[in-house]
Amino acid sequence: MKLSLVVPCFNEEGNIPLFYKAVQNDFKNAGFDYEIVFVNDGSRDGTLREMKKLLEGDIPVKIVNFSRNFGKESAMYAGLENAQGEFITIIDADLQQSPAIALEMVRSLESKPEFDCIAAYQESRGESKSLVFFKDNFYKLINKFADTEFRQGASDFRTFRRPMAEAILGMDEYFRFSKGLFSWVGFKTKFIPYTAGKRATGETKWSFWKLVRYAFEGIFGFTTAPLRIATVAGGASLAGFLIYLIYIIIRCSAFKGVYTAANSAVLLLLAIGGIQLLCLGIIGEYLARTYIQGKRRPIYIAKEIIKSKKYGEDTEVKNG
Ligand code: UDP
Ligand code: MG
Repeated sequence: MKLSLVVPCFNEEGNIPLFYKAVQNDFKNAGFDYEIVFVNDGSRDGTLREMKKLLEGDIPVKIVNFSRNFGKESAMYAGLENAQGEFITIIDADLQQSPAIALEMVRSLESKPEFDCIAAYQESRGESKSLVFFKDNFYKLINKFADTEFRQGASDFRTFRRPMAEAILGMDEYFRFSKGLFSWVGFKTKFIPYTAGKRATGETKWSFWKLVRYAFEGIFGFTTAPLRIATVAGGASLAGFLIYLIYIIIRCSAFKGVYTAANSAVLLLLAIGGIQLLCLGIIGEYLARTYIQGKRRPIYIAKEIIKSKKYGEDTEVKNG
């Protein structure tokens, strides 16, 4: 098998048949074997029904059916785990990422043995000013503190060779931030610009707050800088406290000043209390992650894996 198209899907009933048709159309002269690995990430609409309709088609189709919604990161992991291709493309179901570009990526990889991965990035997404501001600063911040490089606008839309897929699968951490994982495993990646189309049907699953949470996943997953900030802030506040103490002692003893600093004491108390809470919060973030990772929970749970007849009778269930 030359290529596996890994497609995470959450409530995409309208897009599944359109996606399949687009692949059929764009890949008709591909000249190599390929499969589609759909991951049904706990959709609440008819996504699974639409996927099952494709089992009889001429393209080999696998459906990894999750027991609930685990999120796109888990869906990508499950898709990778069930992909057989020598090359793997991760692509959204909503046709914002065109299968024709996926084919170009494959051709490009074939002709460039020195590269392991072709990744698409978007120069602009027609997003609101506030979101662009938020994203710009997020990338500035994370690139300053993390050892891994994060490329702004890079998406999960990429094609890579099997060894890179195995490396990603080897990173079975529970808190997944694929942009970081892709960059952490290394391998030579070529970035190509692309413009995302409009969603064929349905609506985006990303709200502003989901993005904020995802950004935090990146920061806490790939840097320990916040822990350092906490230490520095704690140190600074302690130094401030010492200076203030010396100042009070000198003022009271040498200049016979009267200690009436009730207000400032309250302020100080609040400031120190605030800093302590902040530090505790940050430590808690890491601790919570260690705690959940320590449980070694699976990244996803699949109820079933359904395959086209083309694959034969094998129906094992793999849980990441
Ligand atoms: N997706 C998923 N699980 C989720 C959310 C999204 O598998 O919990 C899939 C979704 O069906 C789509 C892809 O991830 O194929 C990208 O999602 P979306 O189009 O909502 O994101 P956007 O393109 O707006 O960044
Ligand atoms: Mg989309």
